[in-house]
Amino acid sequence: MIRLGTFAALASATILLMAASAPPTAPTPVDPAKVTIETVKLAPGAAVIFGSGGNIGVSYGPDGTILIDDQFAPLTPKITAAAAALDQRPIRFVINTHWHFDHSGGNENLGKAGAVIVAHDNVRTRMSTDQLIQTLNFAFPPSPKAALPVITFAEGATFHLNGDTLKVVHVAAAHTDGDAMVKWEKANVLHTGDVLNRAGLPFADRSSGGSVAGIIAGINTALALSDNNTKVIPGHGPVSTRADMVAYRDALKVLLERVTAEHKAGKTIEQVLALKLEWQAATRTVPADGLVRAAYEDLAAAAKK
Ligand SMILES: [Zn+2]
Repeated sequence: MIRLGTFAALASATILLMAASAPPTAPTPVDPAKVTIETVKLAPGAAVIFGSGGNIGVSYGPDGTILIDDQFAPLTPKITAAAAALDQRPIRFVINTHWHFDHSGGNENLGKAGAVIVAHDNVRTRMSTDQLIQTLNFAFPPSPKAALPVITFAEGATFHLNGDTLKVVHVAAAHTDGDAMVKWEKANVLHTGDVLNRAGLPFADRSSGGSVAGIIAGINTALALSDNNTKVIPGHGPVSTRADMVAYRDALKVLLERVTAEHKAGKTIEQVLALKLEWQAATRTVPADGLVRAAYEDLAAAAKK
């Protein structure tokens, strides 16, 4: 057993070293023929479009269409067709919840077609420069001008359209450093971006300025923006509820508290990873190595300050 354990530890250490030294790559382009687009109406004037990549929120009605995120460039024709099936009027605005490629990949196409792209200041900054998502080892060159947000904000913005008020709220250093959530005040729908990821583990992209504690704070903001009837569009995964967000936050808190205790006790990252801590939220219990690593690195960085 000891031998096997040692071997497994060595093997995983080797894999980590290999991953760290491998040159970064670009993500594989999405094949639109393999993607099914599904639209679900959530309330009058509010819908979600599922496809590949981040979930797209749609505000539609007499004043035109607003998309919240736009997945990947090859999917733009399918996404615009899905939006037109809700309402024929043009796509006036795209709001990016953050800069990641699976949420802003359609920006260039939609920007060229006349949509005004809106996002947090840091989304424009990151999309204007070379980026590396360290966890995925994906590198990105600066985006073309048409893909960049033309209106940016520091704290938030408010849209008064389609008989509703859409509040765009920045949450600091959570999934990235440019996260925004969008709340339809009347329709009672909330798009959280990837601060809430219900298809996988919470992901603090530290290479984009994210942090685990920031995700917890971000979910607290989402909870303050919602009630028991709010329909929550997560960055990934199914339409969710306030209770789902509470469970997600609490599971994250438990994990962060545990990693904090181990860090305080002087354990190394390897020793903490060897504990094989898990993410336990509702029915999901999954290995949480990526999350544990991010939490530990946050604590190590804070301790150095
Ligand atoms: Zn993301």
